[in-house]
Amino acid sequence: MTISSELKKNILQNIDRIISDGAEYVDARLYTKGDTEMLIIFDGNIEVNDTVYENGIGVRVLYNGAWGFAATSSISEIEKCFDKSFANAKTAASLVNTPLRMAKKPAIKGSFASPVKQNPFDVSIKDKLDFLLATDKALKEDWIIQRLLMTMFQHRHIYFFNSEGTETDKTITNVFSKMAITALDEDGLPQRRSHDLYTEGTGTRGFEMLIKPELFFNHSKRIKGELKELLTAKQLDYGKRSVILLPGQGMLQVHETIGHPLELDRILGYELSYAGGSFVGLNDFGKLKYGSEKLNVSAYGKIENSPGTFGFDDEGTPERDYLLIEKGILKDALTSRAMIAEANAKAQKEVFKESGGCSRATAFYRAPIDRMSNVSILPGNDGNLDDIIKNTENGIIVDTPLSWSIGSNREHFHFATEMAWEVKNGKKTGVVRNATYQGHTLEFYNNLSAVGDESTYRVCQVENCGKGEPNQAMEIGHGVPVLRFDDVITGERS
Ligand SMILES: [Zn+2]
Repeated sequence: MTISSELKKNILQNIDRIISDGAEYVDARLYTKGDTEMLIIFDGNIEVNDTVYENGIGVRVLYNGAWGFAATSSISEIEKCFDKSFANAKTAASLVNTPLRMAKKPAIKGSFASPVKQNPFDVSIKDKLDFLLATDKALKEDWIIQRLLMTMFQHRHIYFFNSEGTETDKTITNVFSKMAITALDEDGLPQRRSHDLYTEGTGTRGFEMLIKPELFFNHSKRIKGELKELLTAKQLDYGKRSVILLPGQGMLQVHETIGHPLELDRILGYELSYAGGSFVGLNDFGKLKYGSEKLNVSAYGKIENSPGTFGFDDEGTPERDYLLIEKGILKDALTSRAMIAEANAKAQKEVFKESGGCSRATAFYRAPIDRMSNVSILPGNDGNLDDIIKNTENGIIVDTPLSWSIGSNREHFHFATEMAWEVKNGKKTGVVRNATYQGHTLEFYNNLSAVGDESTYRVCQVENCGKGEPNQAMEIGHGVPVLRFDDVITGERS
């Protein structure tokens, strides 16, 4: 992937021009490719077959402590786009109370590409549909009232340039897929079971990942069997017990109650009117006991194959491996250069030394904001799932989110799950229906009593984390082992 030297020269000259006119900082993101393909099969019919191509440039200008942003899909209007962004920054500067700064960073040059064998956009629509329709056929049964298959492919070439001399380029490829089936239980109420394509953390993430039977197709048989058991299973009784989260549920837990509250822009109040705030304050870093000693959470985790692995963020910062929580103590946040300067100024001390490389935009026409990368709970020493079950007196094993409701500052939560099994005196005793659990975030993580080993760890993919106004759907990864929490309120009061 290359851009013409003429186009690059044009962008760099415009950056220089805006700086010489008085701007403090300028960056530009050029998408030479921004392709997204969505296929949905509903009850065996092709419901959606959409491909979107988005190419263009987005320009940010920092002037007198205020940001301006503008974007265009017309390459002939690049100069105008820089002017517009600068004009927006000047207007904003006349209104700003607290001047914003950009944390310092040396210039870098770098290149990144997602590991891919077969670009999904090189695969024919016939081959894609053949695969999905074969999967749909494998899910079909008389007693199943609804079948859904969703697949989304993304392929992007993004160039980044800034006024400090940083130049990066990245080729991002993502493949997401979901299968879901619904049937009516003995009370006539719908029950759902689903499976999302996951990655092995290593390997490649092209079309070949989707057609690996162990990552997707083979799960059709498993989810059918589990759904059948759910239909006549007993209801979960209300009460306090241990909850063992499989990674398919643990990923939502970490996403909502560790990932989101540790986004620095949320902590600073930027998302209050839409996504919400955070119960975490700037004085909590290095001190707050977020969880038990077994809780270790990393921001990136050096996962090679994940939608949360992207090489360089949209401020040109290399993705950085660091701990957010170490042995239960809160250490760091998900940060960008733009936010750490503001946070340190507000706290009147250096809370954050350097950007976490978490600044990302969903498209060229959106300004980057603080996002999760691969917010992951690191594997522990409590053995495999069987070992954890053996040590559980009274509990449930839960998998896959069905619904979720979370306090706007992420201080508490209530989750319903698709699937659950009861555990009594160290044995899995059978399936239970309509399992829910709830808790206060800090109390819940402080009751983390077992963390599964590497064999229980799975890298889950999220394709649609929502945040920002206007909304920016973002791709993220979560590495999660099997987790057990004690004294959790489960089920609903009758
Ligand atoms: Zn989210």
